[in-house]
Amino acid sequence: MDLTGRREAVGELGLAAFRADQVSRQWLSRLSFDPEDWTDVSPGDRTLIEQALLPPLMDEVNHLACDEDTTVKSVWRLHDGSLVESVFMDYGDRVTMCVSSQAGCGMNCPFCATGQAGLTRNLSTAEIVQQVLVGSRWVRDLPDSRTRVSNVVFMGMGEPLANYAAVVAAIRRLIAAPPEGLGMSARGITVSTVGLVPRIDDLADEGLPVRLAVSLHAPDDELRDTLVPVNTRWRVSEVLDAAWRYAHSTGRRVSIEYALIRDINDQAERARMLVDLLRGHLVHVNLIPLNPTPGSIWTASDPEVEREFVRILREGGISTTVRDTRGREIDGACGQLAAKS
Ligand code: SAH
Repeated sequence: MDLTGRREAVGELGLAAFRADQVSRQWLSRLSFDPEDWTDVSPGDRTLIEQALLPPLMDEVNHLACDEDTTVKSVWRLHDGSLVESVFMDYGDRVTMCVSSQAGCGMNCPFCATGQAGLTRNLSTAEIVQQVLVGSRWVRDLPDSRTRVSNVVFMGMGEPLANYAAVVAAIRRLIAAPPEGLGMSARGITVSTVGLVPRIDDLADEGLPVRLAVSLHAPDDELRDTLVPVNTRWRVSEVLDAAWRYAHSTGRRVSIEYALIRDINDQAERARMLVDLLRGHLVHVNLIPLNPTPGSIWTASDPEVEREFVRILREGGISTTVRDTRGREIDGACGQLAAKS
């Protein structure tokens, strides 16, 4: 709920509206998820609010760390038994939380582990926001002065724009000033999509300057039809046109995600096609060495092939980076989130 909704809900319980502000501060600013600790709220009111408005959201059923504990993948069991994963990445100067927006995913991309199990259900706004709050609590508990998750990427399980209303509401809570929200910068939030064109346009109209990432993976429809099946609905040119409209209306550079798959989409010719498509636009290319997934026959490109791909893009004037993939050994990297407990 937004703050108005929380005040109304508390009012319906017969309590003063300011209780909603107090609880919001406890939950979202103090990161205190146990009503017992809310000393500014009377015990009776705490119980009433907890029972009516704060159902248990999620339990951590697996916690896997690597990179000297700077990368942590969590598996969460939701109230109905659905499993989702989030990945916490501490880069020192910033902390990024990679969150799930759906349990499973309906997009069926063959190189992605999440896509293989299909969609279970959409997550609620609360289930999305809570992943970030738990990450913030870990940051606060680190032995230094950092207090918050600085970046949120909707790059966990699910297609965020297929759960549009809950995702946009979650973004609004993340950026709203306390006590309504977490007070994050919209610029630190990235929504990654396979390219649901009407929803990209809707997102542009929300007036939220979040970063858009488009999972392109191929410059031509023939290949993209096989890698990102929704391409049969919205073609490469339509997806990119929507991306440019987004860049134009938000003023923000769009990221193009491109997983480099050996002998599938890593040819020099495709790098040149990409240059032709992207040149002159407000864009950045993020190449992702393909991460292994169970049952997939595909692997990452050879290092020389990857270097040549990067060289062609940069020579064509396209700003390009290769993602420093984290969490591969804990199945926490891009495309590996399958939520096996
Ligand atoms: N559904 C959204 C959000 C998931 S983001 C989207 O597709 O954009 C996860 C990113 O990791 C996407 O860019 C996705 O294409 C990429 N990805 C999926 N499987 C991968 C794999 N095996 N190796 C590397 N990247 C992968």
